[in-house]
Amino acid sequence: MADRRHLSLVLHDVAPETWPDYVDFVAQVDALARRYGPIPITWLVVPDFHHRSDCRRDGAFLENLQHRQAKGDELALHGYYHCDDAPAPRTPRDWFMRRFYTWEGEFYTLDENEAARRLDKGMELFLSQGWPPTGFVAPAWLMSEGTRRALCKRDFLYTSDPQHLYTLPDFTCIEAPGLVWSARSAWRRGLSRLASETQRWRHRQAPLLRLGLHPVDMRHAHVKAYWLTVLERLIQEGRRPITKYDWIMKQRRREQRAA
Ligand SMILES: [Zn+2]
Repeated sequence: MADRRHLSLVLHDVAPETWPDYVDFVAQVDALARRYGPIPITWLVVPDFHHRSDCRRDGAFLENLQHRQAKGDELALHGYYHCDDAPAPRTPRDWFMRRFYTWEGEFYTLDENEAARRLDKGMELFLSQGWPPTGFVAPAWLMSEGTRRALCKRDFLYTSDPQHLYTLPDFTCIEAPGLVWSARSAWRRGLSRLASETQRWRHRQAPLLRLGLHPVDMRHAHVKAYWLTVLERLIQEGRRPITKYDWIMKQRRREQRAA
């Protein structure tokens, strides 16, 4: 019998200031869960989003995450400030990556020391709340060499880019295609629907399909509706929702049994 296919529902950029964006969507996911069975969510938490949304200062926010974690959701570290505050780019390639592609590549330019400092600060938040370390996802999936070196010396199980998961410390690559929208302008949204549907078709047999959602998606009713529809359709097609952490642990156990 073929292995069961899974999906991971991943919410990016989770912070006190983006929490309200997700509330209604998550309530609708919970309603789907009452019909189809558990839909655990992976929350990518930013400890101090853009230096203005410090998780530690918002007790209600921390309690909400605590509650989600207790019911089986995963909390993963997603940068520390989630903004690229390094000196301005100097080369065309850097300008493209850091201004056109994204302004959010916090870990794109960091040396090992600074990356280590921010990873440890992030871990401190997690440990202070009793949240186990799971994965680290770099903002915009951009990582410098120094970040990679700092990461493999720490207790994270995995990191990821748009199409892969990498288990740590050795960055073993696992195919894990993702659907993601770029919802910040009309032309990007138009292309996103097409790209996303193409991806979904192309990877219909993939063992794990990830749905990567951003707060801005939630501000456009049709984008939010798209995600709910896709989620429900994938479940109806037989994919079982699982957190990224649990999926990797499952693979590990299977490999150990096979060895
Ligand atoms: Zn992000």
